[in-house]
Amino acid sequence: MASNATEQCGCKVGKTIHRYELSDLETKLVTYWTSDGDDQRSTRQLASLLNRRVLESALTSAGVLLKEGEVENTYRLLTDDDVSSGERVQVRNELERDGVDIEQVESDFVSHQTVYNHLTTCLEAQLETPTDQERLEKSADKLGALQNRTSAVTRDTIATLERNGIVDIGTFTVDLSLTVTCEECFEEYTIAELLERQMCACDAE
Ligand SMILES: [Zn+2]
Ligand SMILES: [Zn+2]
Repeated sequence: MASNATEQCGCKVGKTIHRYELSDLETKLVTYWTSDGDDQRSTRQLASLLNRRVLESALTSAGVLLKEGEVENTYRLLTDDDVSSGERVQVRNELERDGVDIEQVESDFVSHQTVYNHLTTCLEAQLETPTDQERLEKSADKLGALQNRTSAVTRDTIATLERNGIVDIGTFTVDLSLTVTCEECFEEYTIAELLERQMCACDAE
């Protein structure tokens, strides 16, 4: 198995793969990323794949007997935005009781950007053109950052005017709601909804 393993690189992905003995992932990450069939995975999916393997390895080393779907579920509880902080604290406490150094494990989790750098810099892998999935993720990131910036600038501007006595308002919040409307059917979508469904309802059938 180790015979065709790529030489270990110094980046976080390389170190993590080495530390958790996941050498089969060395080649799999590139294969998945560059594949143009159903196997194709985005760097975000690959980061999640690698992180779940890290978690699985840590749980196994701690002697936890894994039930079907447990790694996926635990990983979701640790990372998903929809999980409440109470739920997260509970799962982290359980892991610690099981003897898992969850702080170490979490600090070994990699981001999709780190995976991207590993693939393109360490392994010099290349994608001819970004996949639809990569484009969607990149666009979502870009528009998300833009909206955050708009909210922040708005908040600061109002606060400055308020401080100077030009605008009079109590404690305030800024809410930005940006929608895209299809002029064929007048259906309205948030950016997230539209990127998720990738087509308007009127084109769906
Ligand atoms: Zn690397
Ligand atoms: Zn429409």
